[in-house]
Amino acid sequence: MNDENEAVSVLLWLVLFLLVAWIVSIHKRMKEREAREREEQERKEIEERRHVSKSLRAFVMERDDATCQICGISRKMLDDCMDGLGDYLLLEIDHVTSVAAGGRGDDAENLQVLCWRCNRKKSGDKTNSEVAAEIDYGAKYLQKKKKKWWW
Ligand SMILES: [Zn+2]
Repeated sequence: MNDENEAVSVLLWLVLFLLVAWIVSIHKRMKEREAREREEQERKEIEERRHVSKSLRAFVMERDDATCQICGISRKMLDDCMDGLGDYLLLEIDHVTSVAAGGRGDDAENLQVLCWRCNRKKSGDKTNSEVAAEIDYGAKYLQKKKKKWWW
């Protein structure tokens, strides 16, 4: 009788242990899934905020006169130096306030034209004037040259 009781008791403890282990593993998996879903949601939201529509791109390009808003380089400026040189200039639409910092891609006020080079320099949350203070490349030279030509 005693032996039987002991066996039942051991069995009950074992069942209890397995039950607890099972519940803990389910809980852990639920937490992992929640974290994954939250990450996915955040990624989607950032992607949505980053997106700039084609028409808005065209609008910003025209508003900024297809000119880099930091160094002032433009296709026309290069074409003036040598016919066809402007085709080598890669202009991009930049988020003034980065998407990570809450900037949106559907707000024209938050968009500007930058040349490829200035855009690479504007990593992080640098402002235009911070980047402008750093640059020491062609466009500055061209602007000086242009001024000399006018005066
Ligand atoms: Zn530039």
